[in-house]
Amino acid sequence: MAAPKDNKPKAAAKGGAPKKGKGFNISSLYTISGDKISRNNRSCPKCGSGTFLGKHKDRLVCGKCRYVEFVKG
Ligand SMILES: [Zn+2]
Repeated sequence: MAAPKDNKPKAAAKGGAPKKGKGFNISSLYTISGDKISRNNRSCPKCGSGTFLGKHKDRLVCGKCRYVEFVKG
């Protein structure tokens, strides 16, 4: 008794472009006015300048060392 072969082709990758996420722009971290550049986000006190804290609802988080700084509403 041969078991029926199940030769279903593997489901092809579902169509659609891969999700791009929110789209991170490095330029969004800085504001350039004339000759001066100012940073929009706080930089991490542990990692130093150049590593910014990500903004969350009630806290700032460093993606590198996981430093968290809570902010009041
Ligand atoms: Zn850090």
